Amino acid sequence: MEFNSTRRAFQRRFLCGLGSAAAGTAFTPWHVAQAADAAASPVLKVVATFSVLADIAREVGGNAVEVSALVGPNADAHVFEPTPSDVRRVAGADVVITNGLRFEGWIDRLIAASGYRGTLVVASRGVATRQLSGGADPHAWQDLAHGMRYADNIRAALVTALSAKYPARAAEVEARAVAYQQRLTALDRDTRARIAALPAERRRVITSHDAFGYFAAAYGITFIAPRGWTTGSEPSAEVVARIVRQARNAKASAMLVENISDPRLIERIAREAGLAVGGKLYSDALSAPGTEADTYLKMFEYNVRTLVAAMSVGGQSTELTAKP
Ligand SMILES: [Zn+2]
Repeated sequence: MEFNSTRRAFQRRFLCGLGSAAAGTAFTPWHVAQAADAAASPVLKVVATFSVLADIAREVGGNAVEVSALVGPNADAHVFEPTPSDVRRVAGADVVITNGLRFEGWIDRLIAASGYRGTLVVASRGVATRQLSGGADPHAWQDLAHGMRYADNIRAALVTALSAKYPARAAEVEARAVAYQQRLTALDRDTRARIAALPAERRRVITSHDAFGYFAAAYGITFIAPRGWTTGSEPSAEVVARIVRQARNAKASAMLVENISDPRLIERIAREAGLAVGGKLYSDALSAPGTEADTYLKMFEYNVRTLVAAMSVGGQSTELTAKP
């Protein structure tokens, strides 16, 4: 009660003072209170194409941004089909963030349908890409060094969008980006150390689709996948037979399913090769909010933990190297 009446008094003074020379001194407390309110509410609507980008935008943007993902947790962006509500969401966005590298084959159509004319951020811009037969591998976020580039591209876009009208919010984003880069750097260092501790011959695993090429190159693991870089095609019987042969020849330490793919193919290969499925990896999407891999950093850490555990299990060579 008392607060409200005080606030109203300030408000009156501010409103009355607007046209007078005394305005500069009259409105200070109310003005400060309003500024504090404003700092807690989002001022940019950000639409990210998939959950990993949405999380990076939230980490960097903090409470200056309201972020939504078109392709949500555990969903497959390769085969996503936008709905009319997605068209409306993009139309109402201030900033749209994409991965690029042909990951979102549906994005140009969606942008055109929405009439969106705002900033279109390509998070992977500037990443040294891994070339496959069909073009660049889009899964660049699976190397934390590239994740740092993603975060920096997103930071630059948010700061540009904020700086003219909200310079203080832009400065907050800059500070958050510095802190986030430090966390990415620390996890990258930790990942290298944990994988390097395993014998090189144990570092071979089988996954559903070729989503871990950047991870493989950065951290020294060989991934074998029956599907190519996209989930849209079914592997041929020949490819499946080859994977089973590779697994049987003990060239693979572990088989892992992915959160976005039907696990039956990997389970079938595991059965035919006489191997156990060593867990689940998060490839192209986070897990549901409040669960094990609901942020980019948690997803990465979960994958590293799962891989290290799977590659260590039953490791005859691990035991041999441990003995003098
Ligand atoms: Zn993929």
